[in-house]
Amino acid sequence: MIATQPSRLSNAAIAKFAERVGRENDLYDDGRADLDYLLRLFGGKIEYRDGGEALHVRSPADFTIFLPRFTSVARDRFTIAHELGHYFLHYRLPELNDERGYGRGSRNRAETEANVFASALLMPSAEFAEKWNSLEKDEWLVANHFDVSPAAARVRAEVLNLK
Ligand SMILES: [Zn+2]
Repeated sequence: MIATQPSRLSNAAIAKFAERVGRENDLYDDGRADLDYLLRLFGGKIEYRDGGEALHVRSPADFTIFLPRFTSVARDRFTIAHELGHYFLHYRLPELNDERGYGRGSRNRAETEANVFASALLMPSAEFAEKWNSLEKDEWLVANHFDVSPAAARVRAEVLNLK
C-alpha cells in the first residue's frame, strides 16, 4: 500500500475545509451531521467486516469504508468521518483518480489530519459552541446531541477553547 501523503494544511485549515464540505452539501440538521447522506452524494458505501477499519477508493465517486463489527454507533460515526477525511483530504484534494487504499497505518500526520477533519465535520464550530453553552457544558448531553462519544465532545470543546 502506498503511504498516505499528508495534505500539509494546518489543523485550522482542515477544520474549516471539513465544515465547508458539510455546509456545501447541506449535511446539518441542528448541527448533527447526516453522514449517510454525504456517502450517498459521493458514491460511498459501508461494509462491516472482521479486521480493522479502512477506506478503499476505486475512483473519485466510488469508494467503500470498511468498519469493524460490534462497535458503538458513536464510534462508527467517528470512524466513517475519519475515513471521509482521508477521502476528501488525501484523495479529492490532490485530485487523484487511480485506485487507492487507506489503512489504519502507524501514527502519522495523515492520521491526525483525518481525525481533525472528522471532529470538525461531526461537530461544526458554531452549533457546537451554542450547544456546549446551552447544555451547560455537560459533555454527555452534548455528545448525545451530535451522536459522538463524550471523549470526542471534550476534545472538540478544548480545541474551540470552550472549557
Ligand atoms: Zn486513517
